[in-house]
This record gives sequence, C-alpha cells and structure tokens, in this order.
Amino acid sequence: MKRTVVVTGSTSGIGLGIARAFAAEGANIVINGFGDAAEIEKVRQSLETSGGKAIYHAADMSKPAEIADLIATAEREFGGIDVLVNNAGIQHVAPVEEFPIEKWDLIIAINMSSAFHTIRAAIPGMKAKKKGRIINIASAHGLVASPFKSAYVTAKHGVLGLTKTVALETARDGITVNAICPGYVLTPLVEKQIPDTAKARGISEDQVKNDVMLHLQATKEFVGIDQVAALAIYLASDAAAQVTGTSISIDGGWTAQ
Ligand code: NAD
Repeated sequence: MKRTVVVTGSTSGIGLGIARAFAAEGANIVINGFGDAAEIEKVRQSLETSGGKAIYHAADMSKPAEIADLIATAEREFGGIDVLVNNAGIQHVAPVEEFPIEKWDLIIAINMSSAFHTIRAAIPGMKAKKKGRIINIASAHGLVASPFKSAYVTAKHGVLGLTKTVALETARDGITVNAICPGYVLTPLVEKQIPDTAKARGISEDQVKNDVMLHLQATKEFVGIDQVAALAIYLASDAAAQVTGTSISIDGGWTAQ
C-alpha cells in the first residue's frame, strides 16, 4: 500500500529534501509552499519518477482555512494521510524592541500555529485508520535561544510543547508525534538571514557563517538537507513505532553545550 505524505513548505530547502526522500520510496506526496508556478510544476513532476503521485497545494500556512483545505484535499485525493511533516517556516532577525509586530504574528502563525491547524485537521483521519506519523521540523532553537530571534525561538519552543501534548493524546491510536531539531542547514532560509544578522551584530557575512552560525556547531559543518530527510524517513518507519513525544537533535553537537 502506497503511503501518502504531506510536507508543508516543501517547494524549497529541507521540506523539498524530505518530499524527495519519501517520493524516492514511491510514496504519494502533497507539496506546498510559495514560488514560481513553472518551477513548482517541474518539482511536482520530478516527485513522480518513482511511481507515486504528487500534487501541489498552495495553502498559505498563516491562514487556518487554507490549511484545513490542504489536509482535506490530501485526504480526498489519496484516501488518507500516513505521514504529516510540519516544515513550513520563516525567520526574521532583529532586537526585540525593534521587532516588527506583524513579523512576530506571522512567524508565530507559520512556524507554530500552522502545525496545530494541520494536526487538528489530520488527527481524525489518522485515528480512524489507527495509524499515522507526525513529524514537526522544529530547530535547535526549540531547545536553546540565540539573541535577535525572539519570535522564531518562541515558536520553535512552542512546537516542542505541541509535539509532546499531541503524542500523549494519540499514543493509543497507532500515531506517533515527534520533532526534529536541526542545527544550521544551508538553505535559502539561512542564506537570507546572513545579511540581517551581519547588520544586527555589526560584523561581516563571513563572520556570521563561521563565528555565529557554526560557532556552537561543534563539527564546524552545516547539517545536510539529506541528513534531515533521512531522520524523517526513520521517524516514519516501523522501527520508530515506540519513538513518540520526543525531539531528536541533528545539530553537529550544538545543544550538547
Ligand atoms: P526555506 O526557506 O528553504 O523553505 C521554507 C519553505 O516554507 C518554502 O517552501 C517556502 O515557500 C515555505 N513557506 C514559507 N512561508 C510559507 C507560508 N506562509 N505558507 C506555506 N509555505 C510557506 O527554509 P528551510 O531552511 O528549508 O526551513 C524549513 C524548516 O526547517 C523551517 O521550519 C525552519 O525553521 C526549519 N529549520 C531550518 C534550519 C536551517 O538551518 N535551515 C535549521 C533548523 C530548523
């Protein structure tokens, strides 16, 4: 039986890597996110080469009604959702007293509340089938903080609370709920924040990469997108049936300190 996998924010970066990894196993995929329509269509087609079907849903993860439609569409098209990956996320870097209020609201909505909305909509279907896997892409910033990222750090800490709570609520229903906490992965999200961090700290962009981002990443290497995807594949496997309500760090030793 083909699995159906929904990955929010999967037109780029980690989400796309996760979608590709599940597609390579022949799963049906629902991708979501922003971007150029022709590019997205190319990505969608490339996700069908291993035999699964792929559809694109344009839900804005800051809009609860659109999120509900994303889940309903996946269920209607494929007869249910086996794996839900909450990955969509944005970043804004600024001192708290200058943090734009609308950016705070948007980051809380996209990085945290969207996972509540997808989970809320997907759980009844998973409960009915007595199986389901929910994987929340949190961050090392779900466990520890860095200055100038108040909204992001708050949202990611919140995602870990949601992960634990829903895991307890669904533990007898064949559903597992876990979070992955990556350190720095070189994706468009990270590349975009390099100039802002340089400005906020008054340092060069090279210094941001080496002295800020990789400062606490003990391996001094960025985490690979494929490495995060492999962890998601594991959490969705039968071997991980007893892994629930937890977070797994993949951060080059960052949060060991
Ligand atoms: P990215 O910018 O490459 O991708 C983000 C994706 O989310 C894109 O597909 C984008 O279109 C989508 N998106 C943004 N706003 C959206 C919205 N309103 N509705 C729907 N989709 C939306 O970023 P990434 O680095 O791949 O990040 C993916 C996730 O991983 C995020 O939750 C991020 O916080 C988390 N993360 C990233 C890193 C890192 O170092 N890159 C580290 C830890 C955690």
